[in-house]
Amino acid sequence: MKTQEREKIAQLAADILRHKRLYYTGKPQISDAAYDALEAQLKQLDSEHPALSAVGSEASGQAKKVTHESPMLSLAKTYEVDELVGWQDGEVIVGSPKVDGNSLSLIYRAGHLLLAKTRGDGRVGEDVTEKVRWIQECPARLPLAVDIEVRGEVYCSTHAFSALVEEMLARGLERPNNPRNIVAGLLGRKAHIDLCQHFQFFAFDVLGSEAVLPFTSETEKYAWLEQQGFVVLPHTRIQDRDELTAFLEEMKRRMNEDEIAYDGAVFAYDRLALHRQLGATAHHPRFKMSFKWPGQTAEATIERIDWATSRLGLVTPVAVIEPVQLSGAKITNITLHNAEHVRAYDLKPGDRIEIIRSGEVIPKFLQVVQPGKGAHLWPEVCPSCSTPLQFDGVRLKCPASSACPAQTSGFILNWIRCAEIEDLSDKRLEQMLQAGLVTEVADLYKLTPEVLQTLPATKEKMAQKLFQNIQKSRALPLAKFLNGLGIEGAGLRTWEKLLEHFPDLESLLHAREEQLIEIEGFAAKSAEQIVQGLKARRPVIEALLKVGLTPKIPERAYAPGEGPLAGKQFVITGALSRSREEIEAMIRNAGGKAGSSVSKNTFALVTNDTDTGSSKMKKAKDLGIPIWSEERLMVELQA
Ligand SMILES: [Zn+2]
Repeated sequence: MKTQEREKIAQLAADILRHKRLYYTGKPQISDAAYDALEAQLKQLDSEHPALSAVGSEASGQAKKVTHESPMLSLAKTYEVDELVGWQDGEVIVGSPKVDGNSLSLIYRAGHLLLAKTRGDGRVGEDVTEKVRWIQECPARLPLAVDIEVRGEVYCSTHAFSALVEEMLARGLERPNNPRNIVAGLLGRKAHIDLCQHFQFFAFDVLGSEAVLPFTSETEKYAWLEQQGFVVLPHTRIQDRDELTAFLEEMKRRMNEDEIAYDGAVFAYDRLALHRQLGATAHHPRFKMSFKWPGQTAEATIERIDWATSRLGLVTPVAVIEPVQLSGAKITNITLHNAEHVRAYDLKPGDRIEIIRSGEVIPKFLQVVQPGKGAHLWPEVCPSCSTPLQFDGVRLKCPASSACPAQTSGFILNWIRCAEIEDLSDKRLEQMLQAGLVTEVADLYKLTPEVLQTLPATKEKMAQKLFQNIQKSRALPLAKFLNGLGIEGAGLRTWEKLLEHFPDLESLLHAREEQLIEIEGFAAKSAEQIVQGLKARRPVIEALLKVGLTPKIPERAYAPGEGPLAGKQFVITGALSRSREEIEAMIRNAGGKAGSSVSKNTFALVTNDTDTGSSKMKKAKDLGIPIWSEERLMVELQA
């Protein structure tokens, strides 16, 4: 289901429930006809939506105990990378974040959601079907009429938590402590079950007969689950220790930045044959392993909340706390992420809070243990430029953009990091800004060694070095150039991927959102952020080109629209001798396109396993699409 459609459904359901409540309390706000029109619209999009049949917001009857046909085991756990590598034993594994939520089992019969149960003790859980029907990401029916069990994690993102808190307070309910507890709380409650619509669900496993589950790898399993309308976690194929280390680094970034609480990572062998072969102990499967950073929690009191303006103009809060020792470090402040976070938890000086530090991950706020007195005061003006602040949705923003020193220095600092300009520290940049030597990023390239030498503690040799380091970045790779523009929603890997489709700056600047969405792995939201972001950065890009920057475009064997595979779309199924990403890049470099599902536009399906019963193979046979071996593809690539 498309995000827009999901949003539309959620909006309609919320409206319907609101008007239902108003009607039953004798205060209708719209006519019966207008109400019927809302129901008709929702019925058209999702005829089984629980809002259509809801009378009040109560679940009926007692929570029923239900036995899990195959037990929901816990996972083996390690804190050591070495142990993980030993367990990997040269196999390709698939890594994904471990969501700190509640496990659910969804039973589908002929493609219809029949039963949803909590994990419970792993053998017996509770029937939560009526509540789970409210969760958009647990589809009521699947495109295929299959008998399966889908397992996953139900959770509440920070963003959803904030909305949920407001709704609960509006209904006179108690403020929930944290997202994890409220998920368990609402699933176990009989009243206000419609609040479960604030929850989300990630599917991570599917059980059923081999005849209905046509895949042989963990990666294909995720793709199949997505085809059935489930949301899956971001997942990465990992071949060796280097890739594992890179993955864990990326996980740390996600743990700090994502809207979802993760408490580690989960790994599984990619080959499902190995899963069957290894089986499970009484406690945990042998083919999966979780990794955690050793974590320690502590309590601390908030002394005050400081606000700082980021390069994107967001004004973000930091709690200054009474110093505490945690995992061998003295902690004096804790990021509170954003204004929404402060509002959702009603954070203020005097609050006793619980914090956690896992490994080298930045210490994090967990929950309020004992609220302080009084109310929190919101900052009214930007702490950097004193411009009155605005609420942009749930975020507090300084509207001054480049006129705000904090945003300018943050922007330039981000450029310096992305362009890997050595020796240019934030302190030096601050001196340059104060001396008026630099007011925008392009100014860096106008600096001469003589000018640099006027900076404090900068001798001739250092000035020369700085000058050369800056000059070196004139010809940086285009992906790094774009990354340096600090566009929200895109990282270096995003730009590299985009450049495979839009080979130079000019074509990328003219890319439209629809074109980006067509690329596999691009959500509508990030497509919009990227297109809008590039548009907003036009003056910066032009200024950089004007001072003579010549970003290097990636080398391609063929011009766009040319090459031996020009205009042909290929789909891959099953494991090949190289990673799928690598093969897809080779196809694109030869002018072809790589698709994720077989359609009449597919030129050939590439596989080394012609006996596979995968859904892609079935579809290709139905549509009469040629099947190519990897070897055949390699020959055609050279043609
Ligand atoms: Zn400002």
